[in-house]
Amino acid sequence: MILKGGWVLNPATNTQEIMDILITEERIERIGGGIARQFHGEETFDCTGLWVMPGLVDPHVHLREPGYEYKETIHTGTQAAAAGGVTSIACMANTLPVNDTATVTRYIREKANAEGIVEVYPVGAATKGLRGERLAEIGLMREAGIVALSDDGFPIRDAEILRLVLEYARRFGLPVIDHCEDLTLTKGGMVHEGKTGTRMGLKGIPCVAESVMVARDVLLAEWLKAPVHIAHVSCKESVELIRRAKERGTPVTCEVTPHHLSLTVDDLFLSKYDANFKVNPPLREESDREALLAALKDGIIDCIATDHAPHDAQSKMVEFEYAANGISGLETALPLALEAGRQAGIPLLSLLSRMTVEPARILGIDRGRISPGGMANLVIFDPEKEWTVDPERFFSKGKNTPFSGRALKGKVMATLFHGRAVYLDENNPWGLTPICVKRS
Ligand SMILES: [Zn+2]
Repeated sequence: MILKGGWVLNPATNTQEIMDILITEERIERIGGGIARQFHGEETFDCTGLWVMPGLVDPHVHLREPGYEYKETIHTGTQAAAAGGVTSIACMANTLPVNDTATVTRYIREKANAEGIVEVYPVGAATKGLRGERLAEIGLMREAGIVALSDDGFPIRDAEILRLVLEYARRFGLPVIDHCEDLTLTKGGMVHEGKTGTRMGLKGIPCVAESVMVARDVLLAEWLKAPVHIAHVSCKESVELIRRAKERGTPVTCEVTPHHLSLTVDDLFLSKYDANFKVNPPLREESDREALLAALKDGIIDCIATDHAPHDAQSKMVEFEYAANGISGLETALPLALEAGRQAGIPLLSLLSRMTVEPARILGIDRGRISPGGMANLVIFDPEKEWTVDPERFFSKGKNTPFSGRALKGKVMATLFHGRAVYLDENNPWGLTPICVKRS
């Protein structure tokens, strides 16, 4: 297969150039100019005017399977990923049963091999049942294929347990992803604590509920010299703590979601209590959003993660206070991140590195780059294509998005996984039948 004349964006080498890419079987064989002239009769995608980039790596996704198949399955979740240009996803452990044993890890991997459209890397629970009391089967889960540890959905409340998790994880070379939330400060909270939340008459979740845990985590990581990765950073105080920790050489990394880069609590207010804006951590203030954009620009925030959290309609179509937290984010992440990047003046390759090589580096997987001999996981993207978000057209079962009706710029035209097209957009420029399927 040949990708001809695309604008090849490779964040790993910090290069962007018009080139051809020759793919043989599942790997990239050659990259360069004039390849298309030497090979005739091959399957050719004319990529003139389009971007060709590495398949995105998303380190924070909820696939809901096993246990919550009515919200999402490995099949539909990976379809959503392919449609969003994501070819590698790390899936969180808060399934039913929780992924706290090698048996569940193996189940997820086998199911992903059989039904997944793209690659799935399971994240193991740090503690049994996500209860924060006893450690999970870390060594056995590692053998079964987990790439990280996290109790995401919940924080690890007990500092001594977190210490043990960090020490074990370091021994096994696994990153620890912590959901930073002091539950004693967020109890009953639904929206960001501040003027707007008060106006809405809803109990608040203050920024300090996050930052107090970020402070604890970075201090422990610094003391133990053990890496910690802070999930979905949402406020400026957390950014400041991470900045100072990094300046001291602490092994801390962190991520931000597209929704925290794009929306604030005022958007929730204007939505008139639309539960699709309800997410944890909550949408914050404009000053927080600006601090997140600035931190992404200067590298304090390492990567962008969707925290894709699909829900069934029932979980959201109730009073705001009873509605589930979360946003179905895989299919809107790339154009939203590009929009945020443009607003913040982040160079394109730098921004794309936060969705490719940087998350891959944190997870310790060899993905997110375009290189000869490397796996042909690629995205062909039309940067000019304008489209309107319609959740009914999502591949994800989760239609819960606050971006419904929003005009976005840039759309994935094709996603290649192991050298084969697994996604072809309905408006693809080659006149090919749209698909979103597993290819063996
Ligand atoms: Zn979380």
